[in-house]
Amino acid sequence: KIAVLGSINMDLVIRCDRLPKPGETVAARSMTEVPGGKGANQAVAAARCGGAVQMIGRVGDDGFGQKLLNNLLQESIDCSAVLTAQGCESGLAIVSVENSGENAIIVIPGANARLSAEDIHRSESILADCDVLMVQLETPQPTVLAGIQAAKRAGAKVILDPAPAATLAEALFDVDLICPNESEATAIVGGRLETIDDAAEIAKRLHAKGPAAVAITLGARGTMLYDGQTAELIKSIKVDAVDTTAAGDAFAGAVAVRWAQTGSLRQAIQWANLAGALAASRAGAQPSLPTHQQIDSLSS
Ligand code: ADP
Repeated sequence: KIAVLGSINMDLVIRCDRLPKPGETVAARSMTEVPGGKGANQAVAAARCGGAVQMIGRVGDDGFGQKLLNNLLQESIDCSAVLTAQGCESGLAIVSVENSGENAIIVIPGANARLSAEDIHRSESILADCDVLMVQLETPQPTVLAGIQAAKRAGAKVILDPAPAATLAEALFDVDLICPNESEATAIVGGRLETIDDAAEIAKRLHAKGPAAVAITLGARGTMLYDGQTAELIKSIKVDAVDTTAAGDAFAGAVAVRWAQTGSLRQAIQWANLAGALAASRAGAQPSLPTHQQIDSLSS
């Protein structure tokens, strides 16, 4: 059983010939609504990987709230702990993309910002029942901390994806695994990450902050795992990268499910690299998240 505490957003993806400059108006060519948010993406990733997933979060009482819930329910995710924030909009991301591929994004936290530590205490029975809790940083840090502490009391493993990059309260590092990408890792401990040796060094510095294990995702290069004893690069496979959006979410969901199933973090990361590679080889965020059958057929 996997619990995911995190953001649930609707992404409004606007395509235009070029992005407007400040003060300028341009016409869009199209607008599409795409369910997103790191929390929801990771929940969908874990569900497709075969996990029994419980989502903990908040949507707004606008028209998007129900659509977002329906989207999660379609993926067989238990939404009994997804609350509705009264008089509040759902989390939204306005994603403008121009022909060159360059984008500009405005995130409206909306209902995600209303998810409180008290809400987590009300969901304590869910956390008492899960094997792994996944958290990210698109909901308030005190809420994330309440989730981490409740899961630890219950003996569940906790995976923190420290995204988007932020300054973290010290207590948030008390997790079983932290899985930043390159820029999130250097945002936390500083330094430059270019070579594999740099990645090992930065993983060690992150480990010193408290997590039991560190997995820095390195895009096409794979993942640097440091468990407090050895630093090891676990390679990914070669794919034609089309759109790396949500590769990190596919990776996190797959790690959670395989770690819960096998108890081996190393095996879980090998499998999750394939999930990330598959997501990078397909367009979009949630549509690109692979199923466990697809991941298994790559590994055989
Ligand atoms: P994020 O999306 O958070 O920036 P990454 O781009 O590091 O995360 O991707 C997460 C994982 O997905 C990587 O550790 C790797 O295993 C896999 N992956 C991502 N991009 C590629 C790629 N182009 N080729 C192969 N594997 C990839």
